[in-house]
Amino acid sequence: MEPMTGIRYIKGVGEKRAQLFSKLGVETLWDLVNFFPRDYEDRTTYKNVRDLSLGERACVCLTIGSVPKNVRIRGGRTLCKLHAFDETGTIDLTFFNRPYLQSQLRLGESYVFFGKVQGNFLKRELINPEFETLGKDGKSTGRILPVYPLTAGLTRNQVMKCMESALKELDGEIYSILPPETYRRYGLIPDKSAYHSVHFPQSLQDGYAARRRFSFEEFFLFCTGLQIMRTRRGRKKGRVLPDISVDPFLKALPFELTGAQKRAIDEIVTDLHSGEVMSRLIQGDVGSGKTMVAACACYLACASGAQAAVMAPTSILARQHDATFRSVLSSLGIRIRLLTGATGKKEKEQILEEIRSGECDLLIGTHALIEKDVLFKDLALVVTDEQHRFGVRQRSLLTEKGQDTHTLYLSATPIPRTLALILYGDLNVSVIDELPPGRKSVKTAVRHRDGREKVFDFVRREAEAGRQIYIVCPLVDENGDEDLHAVETYAEELKEKELKGISVGIMHGRMKNKDKEAVMQAFQDREIRVLVSTTVIEVGVDVPNASVMIIETAERFGLSQLHQLRGRVGRGEHQSYCILFTEHSGDQTAKRLDAMCRTNDGFEIAQTDLEIRGPGDFFGEKQHGLPEFRVADLATDIEILHQAKSESENILREDPELTDPRHATIRTRIRELFSRTTTATP
Ligand code: ADP
Ligand code: MG
Repeated sequence: MEPMTGIRYIKGVGEKRAQLFSKLGVETLWDLVNFFPRDYEDRTTYKNVRDLSLGERACVCLTIGSVPKNVRIRGGRTLCKLHAFDETGTIDLTFFNRPYLQSQLRLGESYVFFGKVQGNFLKRELINPEFETLGKDGKSTGRILPVYPLTAGLTRNQVMKCMESALKELDGEIYSILPPETYRRYGLIPDKSAYHSVHFPQSLQDGYAARRRFSFEEFFLFCTGLQIMRTRRGRKKGRVLPDISVDPFLKALPFELTGAQKRAIDEIVTDLHSGEVMSRLIQGDVGSGKTMVAACACYLACASGAQAAVMAPTSILARQHDATFRSVLSSLGIRIRLLTGATGKKEKEQILEEIRSGECDLLIGTHALIEKDVLFKDLALVVTDEQHRFGVRQRSLLTEKGQDTHTLYLSATPIPRTLALILYGDLNVSVIDELPPGRKSVKTAVRHRDGREKVFDFVRREAEAGRQIYIVCPLVDENGDEDLHAVETYAEELKEKELKGISVGIMHGRMKNKDKEAVMQAFQDREIRVLVSTTVIEVGVDVPNASVMIIETAERFGLSQLHQLRGRVGRGEHQSYCILFTEHSGDQTAKRLDAMCRTNDGFEIAQTDLEIRGPGDFFGEKQHGLPEFRVADLATDIEILHQAKSESENILREDPELTDPRHATIRTRIRELFSRTTTATP
């Protein structure tokens, strides 16, 4: 059969099953064989009862020690308990709703069971285990079984049966997509046998070796596709900005820039003079001082007589940037305006006029900047802060307001560096890997309920010593109603009890921008000592006098988010603290919170997060054109990604457009990979 034959044509697949497969993205035979297991279950080794540990999934050979008897239980269900044994011990077996068990499990006979070991330290139990008669050729025991991401109504056995037929029906020619040398060079299984091994491995190694080939292929296609898109897009002509010295800017600063900041600025200067459009990502941990780098770029654009725009994701942040930029750039004669959703009508008209006429050099604001009526006289540079908060479309809407506009993105999303370089390959990346001098790392601790009193004593002391404190509560529900309630009642409680006499302010997403800004201002002016807030303060907020960050129900946040929140303190000269409250001591949770206590380094935290939760968190809404990989895993296969990338470069060097007939399959497969998730097709 042809690979593109619908799966309806294999034996055992009717309309209904085909529909279930379709839910999994499997329409054709080709789709089916490329529907890879996400893991394997090793049922090749048998264990003794004595050696079973709680929670493990294992195969055991057991002799039935009591006659199965069904008992009726609630809800019309039946329950059957019996015990079984081997030479090392006895174990209970429990089954639900198995009326024919008596004829299947006979007293004194032996069977192979597979299941998850449950119970307690006194007794072991298997609940609803799978079983087969001992000595029969094992279908569900004595072998390695693939674990597929299934959908309701479709079982592993059914998938395995169809897979077997599909592999039989398809012939060998179509299976390899890369040149034979490539498979050889990287020690990859080149032929059809990889498909057999990935679905029905003889051993775990066998399965993983096959998997490696498919990860390699997938990464290869991905890197090659990205590269072709980049080449096609070509280098875009950009305006050459006049050669202006950065010295006046440096002199206007209240501090000396760090080496990393200076390097980033040098790179920007080179970009601005290169004749090509700048597209640069400034990646730096929270508090690394990205804002000043952006301010310098704005200075260069504005001092040359053109205009610049800075877009931030929240009005709080826009306002803060307005103040920061003013404090440095006003003395250099740069005229700055702030435009947010909260800007009054009259003022807005005035501002729009000033931008149109060129009277305003630098416009700072929120999404309000991309509105149609915002027209620039001569926009040369766009800065997007916290770029991951914006969609691609929003960013380009702003850039399109100028001619050959240069763009600078600021991001604290600490994507591990190698990954960033590959994923953002079409951006240039400056990494700020150095914090301003004198920063003390934030001391972080996990506390449970019984430690609350002490923590709030500490908060009092810090407040009385002149410091300021953030207390973050998680969103309670998506609507935000509960959320508001939680913040308000919680703050009230604190005011009456633990923090009596200390000025407590609140902030949440449901407040009007104007009110949020007023609260933020009061916090900045130290009229508010303790700010109880939702995560609206997560991004970018910079109040160096704040020294304590308390996070309630910390397990509800992702690591990257916790790191962002913690980044609100430790921004000044004072020793700062981050306290993570949790009632949890589960495995994953403990691991995540431990990572926070262990390090302050965002990149390390990101790596841990990547390992625990996978890459989804970093890329969020598929705005990076990142396809959904079928088998490759960005969290664990970085090494393969590197190899695939370098091989992709080799092949493109000789055949940049893949016109060589030998590469035709690569082309087809790239198109297939990218069409799965994005609109951009190479
Ligand atoms: P982020 O990279 O998280 O956006 P900011 O740009 O807000 O960080 O900078 C964090 C704080 O560090 C600000 O208060 C800023 O004024 C200060 N800062 C930035 N660069 C330096 C420097 N070179 N020396 C001392 N302080 C600095
Ligand atoms: Mg920032």
